[in-house]
Amino acid sequence: MNLEEKKTCDLINGTGVPAQARKRQDYLEWSEYFMAVAFLSAQRSKDPSSQVGACIVNQENKIVGIGYNGMPNGCDDDLLPWARSADDRLDTKYPYVCHAEMNAIMNKNSADVKGCTIYVALFPCNECAKLIIQSGIKDVVYLSDKYHYTPEMEASRRLLDLARITYRQFQPKRKKIVIDFDSVGPSAQRIKHVVYLSNKYAQEVETRASVRILDEASTPENKIYRQFESRQEVHDLLDSINPFAE
Ligand SMILES: [Zn+2]
Repeated sequence: MNLEEKKTCDLINGTGVPAQARKRQDYLEWSEYFMAVAFLSAQRSKDPSSQVGACIVNQENKIVGIGYNGMPNGCDDDLLPWARSADDRLDTKYPYVCHAEMNAIMNKNSADVKGCTIYVALFPCNECAKLIIQSGIKDVVYLSDKYHYTPEMEASRRLLDLARITYRQFQPKRKKIVIDFDSVGPSAQRIKHVVYLSNKYAQEVETRASVRILDEASTPENKIYRQFESRQEVHDLLDSINPFAE
């Protein structure tokens, strides 16, 4: 680092340590991470109107259960209704659907969830409050409380209060967490060129069909397939992909 660069470094972070040598500053905090896991698992939900996820975490910050709202195991979710309202309540989703909290508790990968915290997108309903209490979970972190004034939520708060289970609203510092599959390097790239060694089946119908497809994808300036030009070219290629080549 030259003097000018060092000055810039000192100016930027006040420590004189180059940014690449220090730990990242914008990593996810635990609570952001667990709430994001809840939101990611909600993306698995097939419910057209409400996708809710839940993530249960033990006292060592280890995830011990994840769930999202869905129909019970083995019950064909194409045969059960997803409607929010219907003349007959049996034609709505409500009598059938399992909430995220229930699924997270039932899916636990530890012996129990005693003393754990559950992260949920929505404040838990009274039915889930019962499950949370019976499972031994001690703390609820929720994001939205949009049904606050419904009897179900009032009952839920009464139960949680009596059982001395704490609940608190999550205050996100950022509005979005983006998952970028290209962040560690390019993901599955499309093959751009084909270079082949032998074309001894040139007259076969499969080969001729293949040539037609490749010709259609080619332009006069960029023909996307060709034969190896020389023995040396093959050797060079093999050397370039052989990690033991000198
Ligand atoms: Zn519920």
